[in-house]
Amino acid sequence: MSAVDPIVIVDNISKTFHAGGRSHRALDGISTTINRGEVLVVIGPSGSGKSTFLRTLNALETIDSGSIIIDGVSLTAKKTNVDQLRTEVGMVFQHFNLFQHKSVLDNIILPQKVVRRRSEAEATKVAQDLLEKVGIPQLADRYPSQLSGGQQQRVAIARSLAMNPKIMLFDEATSALDPETVEGVLELMGQLAAEGMTMAVVTHEMQFARKVGDRILFMDNGKVVEERKPNDFFDNPQSDRAKLFLEQIL
Ligand code: ADP
Ligand code: MG
Repeated sequence: MSAVDPIVIVDNISKTFHAGGRSHRALDGISTTINRGEVLVVIGPSGSGKSTFLRTLNALETIDSGSIIIDGVSLTAKKTNVDQLRTEVGMVFQHFNLFQHKSVLDNIILPQKVVRRRSEAEATKVAQDLLEKVGIPQLADRYPSQLSGGQQQRVAIARSLAMNPKIMLFDEATSALDPETVEGVLELMGQLAAEGMTMAVVTHEMQFARKVGDRILFMDNGKVVEERKPNDFFDNPQSDRAKLFLEQIL
């Protein structure tokens, strides 16, 4: 990382869910910054608010208080076009969310035409180049159901990249994959990071977190408990909560 250039500024955000007559504070005063080209890895126990946090960054989840600024534009300002801003923030989920009735190529072409207003020819070229990049050019004409989980996740990543997002969010992108395809998808994510993509990654892959992460955000109970360089965090966790978590997972 060279000059510090914040692309995401999260300031004291909170979010409470109300369900079945009960309230749960999923995010409790989260603040952080993600600089351009940086990889923020978010880890923490199940239910700590990791997914909710990522989802607030592309407005899939609203916040009750605090503010989020993406590349200079406030997500929460009334005049902000949230749909527009969302197209700048790519998101890859555990379950790939591909269009099942469309070919691989069309999965990547369609959003380009709808969201970016690209011509068929241009969108096709971008899609082909991206399939090359994610390592599955030979699968362009298949349908999602004919692909392995790892291959489907590559399509989902290519589809997100086709929007030229300013940041990519990955929420347990490898958690639903067969063990033998996990490594390949992690490698692809590492490659994107090496090319300078700004990323926020929720993962249970601690080797990846240490190797590719620029910073670890450790969450528990809707709060940031530790936010530190990977080696510092893994070699010398400060909080009892992080120590316990690492003992259980490593
Ligand atoms: P994590 O991704 O770290 O496992 P989540 O962000 O999914 O955690 O969830 C944080 C907390 O918020 C959990 O207690 C979860 O049950 C609750 N929660 C998440 N989404 C909803 C929702 N749509 N409605 C009610 N509660 C929710
Ligand atoms: Mg989650």
